[in-house]
Amino acid sequence: MSDADRNRALLRGECRYCKIVHFYLATDMKEICGDVQVDDVKLRCEKCGQADIPVTCHHPSAAEYQTLMLRRLERIEFKRKIIWRDEPAWKRQG
Ligand SMILES: [Zn+2]
Repeated sequence: MSDADRNRALLRGECRYCKIVHFYLATDMKEICGDVQVDDVKLRCEKCGQADIPVTCHHPSAAEYQTLMLRRLERIEFKRKIIWRDEPAWKRQG
């Protein structure tokens, strides 16, 4: 991921079901996945929920770069997760 970042490469993810292509910055992806190999990154399609969308490095030409829309990381939300357990009632006594 650091290599991609240094080479100013973008990361390209495409859902083959929705035919949606997004381009990401390696620096954003590093926030989420850590500094792993690009091959190890798998995305989930935000539209159809398809998991395991592969990511490839993409080197846009200067002309293409002018027209590209990047998918930037807005924020990471940590949702409250509630976990229940069953406990015998007698444990509450004494
Ligand atoms: Zn999709």
